[in-house]
Amino acid sequence: MNHPSRNVYNFNAGPSALPTAVLEKAQQELTNFNQSGMSVMELSHRSKTYEAVHNEAIDRLKKLYDIPNDYEVIFVQGGASLQFSMIPMNFLTKDTKAGYIMTGSWSEKAFKETALFGTGYKIASSKDDAYRHIPTVSAEDVNEDDAYVHLTTNNTIYGTQWQEYPDFGNVPVIADMSSDIMSKPIDVSKFDMIYAGAQKNLGPSGVTVVIIKKSLLEKANEQVPTILKYQTHVDSNSLYNTPPTFGIYMLGEVLKWIDMQGGLETIQKVNKEKATYIYDVIDESNGFYIGHADKASRSLMNITFRLKDEALEKQFLEEAAEKGFVGLNGHRSVGGCRASTYNAVPTEACLALSEFMKEFQAKHA
Ligand code: PMP
Repeated sequence: MNHPSRNVYNFNAGPSALPTAVLEKAQQELTNFNQSGMSVMELSHRSKTYEAVHNEAIDRLKKLYDIPNDYEVIFVQGGASLQFSMIPMNFLTKDTKAGYIMTGSWSEKAFKETALFGTGYKIASSKDDAYRHIPTVSAEDVNEDDAYVHLTTNNTIYGTQWQEYPDFGNVPVIADMSSDIMSKPIDVSKFDMIYAGAQKNLGPSGVTVVIIKKSLLEKANEQVPTILKYQTHVDSNSLYNTPPTFGIYMLGEVLKWIDMQGGLETIQKVNKEKATYIYDVIDESNGFYIGHADKASRSLMNITFRLKDEALEKQFLEEAAEKGFVGLNGHRSVGGCRASTYNAVPTEACLALSEFMKEFQAKHA
C-alpha cells in the first residue's frame, strides 16, 4: 500500500516507530551536521565532532537512568542476540553455573548459548502456560555461587513484563531489556548488567547498549576473543573498532527527545495510558478479543491478543491494514495479533486502534 508521508499508525515490534521530531531533525542535519560540511555518517569516528556525539549519547543514558559511578556504559554490535553468547563466554566457566528464568523465546535463545561455556540451568519457566505469566522467583531458587542469573524484563513475543524485579542476594543479575529499556524509571543498582538492542525504544537497529557493573567486569574470563570481551569496549570507550556512528547519533537524539517529554516518569505515565486504551477494549469485549498474557503480567510495550477464530482474525488484520494500522500481526512463531506500543508510538495511534477494535467488534460480534 502507498501511504503519504508518515500517514500510518506504526505498531511494529522492532524495528519500530521513532519520534517524528527526531527523524525531522536528522533529515535537517543529514547533509551538514553541526557545520561540519558533512553528514554524521561521513565523519571519522576518531574526529572531535563525532566524539562529542558519542559521549553525549553515553552521558544521556547515564543521566536518564541515574546510573551509579560503579557502572560502565558501552555500545556493541551484533544485536541483543550476540549478548546471548557474550554473557556466558565472559562470565561462565566449566566449573560454574548460571540460572535462567524462562519467560519466552528470547530467554530460550539466551539459555541455549550457555552449553558451550558451562552449565546453564532453568530457575523457573512459564512455558507450560504458553508463557502467559512471569514466574515468582526469589534468592532461594539460586545457588549462592552461581556466576549470574539471567532474565528478560519484557517478552516481546508473548506480551508479558516483569512488574517488580526479584532480589537474588549476592548473585549478579543480568537483564535483557531489549523491549522495555527506557520505558520507565528503574533502579539500575538492582542489576549487574543490562543490555538492549536499540531498535525498539532507542533508535535504529545496529547498536546494542550494555550497562555493566565494574565488579562484574572484574570477574570476566581471560580466554575470550578481543572483540567479544566487554573490557575491550570499556577500555576504548566503545571505539575499539568503527562503531555504528549514525545509529549512535540517532540514539542520542531519541534520548534527548525522552528528556524533552519530561523524562522517564512522564514516559511511563503516557505508556500506561496508551496500553490501557487497548487493554480496556480487550477486557470489555466479552471474549470477542482474548488477551494472551495474564492480567498481572501484562506488558505495557507489546499487547498480544487473539480473536475467536482464524478467519475473523485474518479479516481484522486486513481491515486494520486498510485503515493504516501497520505491524499488528503477532510474531511469526505464535500468530494472533500484537500491538507494540513503544515510547515513540503516539497516544493518538493507540486511541485510534482502540476505536477501530470497538467498531470491528460492533460489526462482527
Ligand atoms: N531480546 C528481546 C527481548 C527481543 O525482543 C529481541 C528482538 N526482538 C532480541 C532479544 C534479539 O534482538 P536482536 O535482533 O537485536 O539480536
